[in-house]
Amino acid sequence: MAYFIDVILPIPLQRLFTYSISEAEAQFLQQGMRVAVPFGKSKVYTALVHKIHQQAPEVYEAKEIQQILDEEPIVTTTQLQHWEWITEYYMASLGEVFRSAVPSAFLLESETIISKYDNSDVDESQLKDDEFLIYEALQHQSLLKIQEISNILQKKNVVPVLKRLLDKKIIQVYEEIYEQYKPKLVRYVKLHTKYSNEAQLHDLLDSLQRAKKQREVILTLFSISAATKRPISVAELAKQSNASAAVIKALIDKEILEEYYIQKDRIEYDGDETEDSKQLNPYQKEAYQTIQTAFQTKDVCLLHGVTSSGKTEVYVKLIEDILGSGKQVLYLLPEIALTTQIITRLQQYFGEKVAIYHSKYSVHERVEVWNNVLHNKPKAQIVLGARSSLLLPFSNLGLIIVDEEHETSFKQFDPAPRYHARDAAIVLAKMHQANTLLGSATPSIESYYNAKTEKYALATITRRHGDVLMPDMELVDIKEKHRKKRMKGHFSDRLLEEIKETLENGEQVILFQNRRGYAPIIECNTCGHSPQCPNCDVSLTYHHYKNQLRCHYCSHHIAMQQQCLACGSHELDTKGFGTQQIEQELNELLPDVKVGRMDLDTTRGKYGYQKIISSFEQQEIQILVGTQMLTKGLDFRNVNLVGIMNADSMLNFPDFRAHERSFQLIQQVAGRAGRTKKRGKVIVQTYNPYHQILQQVSVGDYENMCKDQLNERRQFHYPPFYRLIKITLKHKEYNRVNESSAWFAKSLRNNFGENVLGPEFPPIARIRNLYLKNILLKIPKQQSLAKTKEIVTRIKTSFLSISEYRSVRVIIDVDTV
Ligand code: ADP
Ligand code: ZN
Ligand code: ZN
Repeated sequence: MAYFIDVILPIPLQRLFTYSISEAEAQFLQQGMRVAVPFGKSKVYTALVHKIHQQAPEVYEAKEIQQILDEEPIVTTTQLQHWEWITEYYMASLGEVFRSAVPSAFLLESETIISKYDNSDVDESQLKDDEFLIYEALQHQSLLKIQEISNILQKKNVVPVLKRLLDKKIIQVYEEIYEQYKPKLVRYVKLHTKYSNEAQLHDLLDSLQRAKKQREVILTLFSISAATKRPISVAELAKQSNASAAVIKALIDKEILEEYYIQKDRIEYDGDETEDSKQLNPYQKEAYQTIQTAFQTKDVCLLHGVTSSGKTEVYVKLIEDILGSGKQVLYLLPEIALTTQIITRLQQYFGEKVAIYHSKYSVHERVEVWNNVLHNKPKAQIVLGARSSLLLPFSNLGLIIVDEEHETSFKQFDPAPRYHARDAAIVLAKMHQANTLLGSATPSIESYYNAKTEKYALATITRRHGDVLMPDMELVDIKEKHRKKRMKGHFSDRLLEEIKETLENGEQVILFQNRRGYAPIIECNTCGHSPQCPNCDVSLTYHHYKNQLRCHYCSHHIAMQQQCLACGSHELDTKGFGTQQIEQELNELLPDVKVGRMDLDTTRGKYGYQKIISSFEQQEIQILVGTQMLTKGLDFRNVNLVGIMNADSMLNFPDFRAHERSFQLIQQVAGRAGRTKKRGKVIVQTYNPYHQILQQVSVGDYENMCKDQLNERRQFHYPPFYRLIKITLKHKEYNRVNESSAWFAKSLRNNFGENVLGPEFPPIARIRNLYLKNILLKIPKQQSLAKTKEIVTRIKTSFLSISEYRSVRVIIDVDTV
């Protein structure tokens, strides 16, 4: 009997690949285990077993696998089902999902580089011939590729030898030099067993009469062990007894103390006792009960709670309910909102049950969380993570919380799979028969619409905790201020007055400048007008190379204007201004004030955000200038003023979501003001104080904003009424992109008619030497999504079969945001 497996390879090809296995291997293998397989002429990949069967492939002869890499599955069946859903819905390949889901340490490939293990006492006589050959080669050349090893041994299947050498600690995988998966060991001390009885102890203390510091250490050790039964680490003992490491080492050398090691997981809670959760206030309680009741009949509930209403405390109660049942909880946050503020808060309640999964953590930390989740360990009962934690091997999910659900950064863009974490979370929860809670102070129009149409349940909290009033928002007309010469740089007199008053009261200030202020939009310096597309309700963007203003959705275009269309002024401006400029101006205007900046430039590295956040918390910084990063759920106690430098650049962004996003951003930054007792103040500087969105945001009228936006979306055929698929073509030659995208769009039009927009150059038409062109496909609700994607795939296949177009990259983004 012949046996075969279908495997997923971590590459963007759609198909599964079949390999042949022995009967014994067939008995042993299960879906979700990894195997090393040869691929192409000389490559070796780590593949994932999908199916074990007896059907030989028809068109090619199945190769044999090289090696089984796992003793048990590392991917669960439900997880695979979920991956399959992502693959199909987002038009990706299973291999792409596999690759982006597992920590890179799980993928050994032919590009993998091997180096010598730092180990001098190798007994060469113990090495088999093939092992010795590799060992010897590594004496001459410090790094070897798997391909080179294969040449040395003159055979293809080198994985077994490498595995033996890895096990014998003779070689290591090169990446592991930095990222070796080694559990972290922590050094502990205890009293040497010689001193186990009272009399010996007395003698010891007497003998240390003159070694004061050492005596102090021993006494401290006694008092800690009397209070708790837990092990005492060297670090803790040094801290508590105020002794240096040298003093402790001396005691160890004298054999008074004995050292030992305990393996510690890297990501670990090191605080003290956990706290009880807070008593919910009446509004929170009501929301909590609404959610609980809703979950009996609906899968998804949206919690719409104003900023500082205490949504986190409601999540905490729901998590407590689930933990009792032994199930797992996934708490999703946008990547940059995953700061230690929220981590610490959850750890205070749940201690070491909280595991963090996040791209800034190392490979081993991620491997640890993966394994803990797979085995449903208490240590990973609550996973707090960014987008990709959705792809972990959950075995028994009870609840998913998607906090800040309106954030568009939940959508993965590059590389594929281009999934939306919020939507994929809802699907995952369903597969586990679990519930999903979406939380936000400013829900996305889509989610709010789903709640209003009763697809989701809805719970609301309209008051801040402690009945603090929502901040008082004042719109400052900078057109007027310019005219009256009341501007200093980008600061109006009102904003400066408020800043000074706030600082005099010993309170802090946040100033917000949108990163997107750099978008090439024309804005009139006199009246703030920026030209709009008549068909799409978005601002036209300035295209330098043609000197045109264009709509990047429908191709409508006009020549670049010399005069403002609204007021005739010649002062048209294309450039925005950034956080750095604000910081500089502040240094000149208020030279004695400490100013900090939080944007992409200042927050690199694992602790980048943390440093800025804590120095602001510690009040070392008085004014914090930043981009949207500032909006992400941060809870600062002493901020009383928030200034928004220029609201217009957001409103004018060429995107059908510009208005929704502006409302959300302003509301969220404003929410950082006055979170404790005193009512906060928000100053919004704008050229258009009568803009509908600004009027609505100034009184916190989310309902009406939503109603207006929904009307526009209905009228202009945008989500939630239509679905969108964006197709991007990329090539280094301008003409090739033009011609090929015209071909693609025409084929789409033959099938979908006027629901195809473009092709159109995006505002930034060339990125890394590649020209881009976008085509937008709008899909009415009644049109079958599956059929639509089938047609798109068919068109893509014919497209790539045309030889001139084969080198054009086609990117398909379903539900583009
Ligand atoms: P949100 O996430 O809705 O913006 P938070 O959960 O951050 O609000 O709560 C705002 C602040 O109010 C936090 O400092 C939190 O500790 C406090 N808080 C919220 N609910 C309660 C409660 N029931 N009892 C005591 N403090 C609370
Ligand atoms: Zn004007
Ligand atoms: Zn248009």
